[in-house]
Amino acid sequence: FFSSDENLTKQTRTVECIFERSIIYEGLPIHFDAHIGYARLSGDDRREVVNRAESASEYAREMGMRSALYTSAMALDKRQNLILMGGLLDALHSAELTLHFQPKINLKTGQLVGFEALSRWQHPTLGNVPPDRFIPLIERTALIHAFSLWAIETALIKFNSFRKQGVLTVVAVNLSSHNLINDEFPKQVIHLLDKYNVDSCYLEFEITESEIMRNPEKAIEVLKELSGMPISISIDDFGTGYSSLAYLHKLPATQIKIDRSFIQDINHDSGLRKIVSAAIVLAHSLGMKVVAEGVETEDQYRLLERLGCDSAQGYLIARPMPEDQILKWFEQWVAPSLTADLYEA
Ligand code: C2E
Ligand code: CA
Ligand code: CA
Repeated sequence: FFSSDENLTKQTRTVECIFERSIIYEGLPIHFDAHIGYARLSGDDRREVVNRAESASEYAREMGMRSALYTSAMALDKRQNLILMGGLLDALHSAELTLHFQPKINLKTGQLVGFEALSRWQHPTLGNVPPDRFIPLIERTALIHAFSLWAIETALIKFNSFRKQGVLTVVAVNLSSHNLINDEFPKQVIHLLDKYNVDSCYLEFEITESEIMRNPEKAIEVLKELSGMPISISIDDFGTGYSSLAYLHKLPATQIKIDRSFIQDINHDSGLRKIVSAAIVLAHSLGMKVVAEGVETEDQYRLLERLGCDSAQGYLIARPMPEDQILKWFEQWVAPSLTADLYEA
């Protein structure tokens, strides 16, 4: 707790330095991971200051920061968190939660290779709440299992609806680490595939490396079971985790998705270009396909095609869309490299 701004920076550094040092235990260095919340002392209500510091440390943990200073916006966040969590169970059984679908296309042929299902929550009082906001909250609770099963079930229902309209393609659902430590999960997936009469080869799961690394042994065991069905496994946000290279060959994955942050400046940054090119070669050498995320310009699209990337996803191709816009997009879609060929012909 701090009474003035001047000593704040100095003292926070002192506290943080404690956690930067490792302790030697039986000859081995032990590292600590801590998220620190700070709050200013105002008035005498010490309980309130502790609450505020707690909110700030929760905020730091969620944002992946070492520390955070309490602000009034965090109180609002906390209130909203309670509203969101209170409404989740109802939302799972109503039309508030929906899936939008974003196409992935083959860079060479321009053909559709799949849809990624992305969840959306239209909350009755808070309005449109983005998944980055509500999914970390769900992940703190056991509801994450019901939520992921809801996403898979809804994706399979929509898959059948696309199929009826003549659009037959793979549908990918995002998973959380909690799903991969649940022994029941593979059985529940088989049950849903049977219920909706969908062949497992049309289902794909996306999971980030950092989610796998929370409990790598167990996660890899469950992923192996899923990939044996066979369901395709994609490593999401590739390049942003810690141990990409050490673990990649151990993962039963069929595909990596190169994170948007590598694609954004790829045309202007030769360093990024080399990293992406090396990741493509590495993935191919392990027998995996490569998808580029966040493709927004034709220049990015053509460069990725030249680098040998297999497929692309991003606003250039389409934004995530509700089900009723898919058919129209599908009928109108023409790949940029195909239009270039037309001009050249
Ligand atoms: P993600 O899996 O990396 O999904 C891609 C995100 O990038 C989506 O954000 C998508 O709308 C956005 N995006 C796609 N193309 C572009 C582009 O060209 N430019 C830019 N700037 N953004 C693009 P969204 O829908 O807000 O989802 C955010 C994250 O929330 C997802 O990141 C995923 O981690 C998580 N998420 C969404 N739905 C689910 C779900 O049903 N279950 C789980 N566990 N996570 C989900
Ligand atoms: Ca994803
Ligand atoms: Ca991603």
